[in-house]
Amino acid sequence: MLRTDLKNYLIGDGMSLNQLSRLVRKSVRELENDLKHLEKSIKHQNEFIETEPAYCRKCQFEFPKSKWNKPSKCPDCKSTWIQEPRISISE
Ligand SMILES: [Zn+2]
Repeated sequence: MLRTDLKNYLIGDGMSLNQLSRLVRKSVRELENDLKHLEKSIKHQNEFIETEPAYCRKCQFEFPKSKWNKPSKCPDCKSTWIQEPRISISE
């Protein structure tokens, strides 16, 4: 799969890494790597990957924006009810 294809999935509303993984049948790990490369290559076109950070649905704790992966649990209240980060590309 080409990285430009990956980009097409993320333009507009975007999606979580897990959704993307199911869609393109690649592991989250592989996709993370692909996204890193994609981020570098689109920079030149003044585009960037936007991340809506993950948050705890119990206490609203917000995770760091730089992480694309779904955190396993909340460091604050230890809840595993976590909203995944949403990744999108804005043009
Ligand atoms: Zn919490």
